[in-house]
Amino acid sequence: QQYAWGKIGSNSEVARLLASSDPLAQIAEDKPYAELWMGTHPRGDAKILDNRISQKTLSQWIAENQDSLGSKVKDTFNGNLPFLFKVLSVETPLSIQAHPNKELAEKLHLQAPQHYPDANHKPEMAIALTPFQGLCGFRPVEEIVTFLKTAAGNNMEDIFGELLLQLHQQYPGDIGCFAIYFLNLLTLKPGEAMFLEANVPHAYLKGGPWLCR
Ligand SMILES: [Zn+2]
Repeated sequence: QQYAWGKIGSNSEVARLLASSDPLAQIAEDKPYAELWMGTHPRGDAKILDNRISQKTLSQWIAENQDSLGSKVKDTFNGNLPFLFKVLSVETPLSIQAHPNKELAEKLHLQAPQHYPDANHKPEMAIALTPFQGLCGFRPVEEIVTFLKTAAGNNMEDIFGELLLQLHQQYPGDIGCFAIYFLNLLTLKPGEAMFLEANVPHAYLKGGPWLCR
């Protein structure tokens, strides 16, 4: 997926993975390569290149090999693969998001399918491949109060001040830049992970995690 926030050309881990798995892939050095998907999502159903296998995509293969899911997953998710594996390569921060739980996702999908094409919840697990910075869940109230009392923004020398200036440069006038004072700021080392449950606000700022949902 070539979202605008992705790293550009072969600077992107995503582009390099694409090239390493497909000798015919042409990497455009002026285009962003944001997300690599592996799963059965309609906008990116994994292709099967092995011509000894009659099915051409992973969703076709799973449809005809239902036992591969295991009985529990098969019954709970009506024979569909409930995970999407992604690799992200982030150049500029993503929007702040929160995903609904299953009950609310079904309701929203019924009410406005054009805005909520997916009736499923999307708990996420993000694992850092390279050092990675993100926001996850609200800070303890005392921390938020302390930030407000010391008038965040007067001190531009600390790491929050520096980050605020950087975010504001990338998204001028965006009030969401102040989210760093309300949400936990995490820096993950390679191999570390964070779990994002339903309703937990989060944003990916920098780096290249991979995640499952
Ligand atoms: Zn998310």
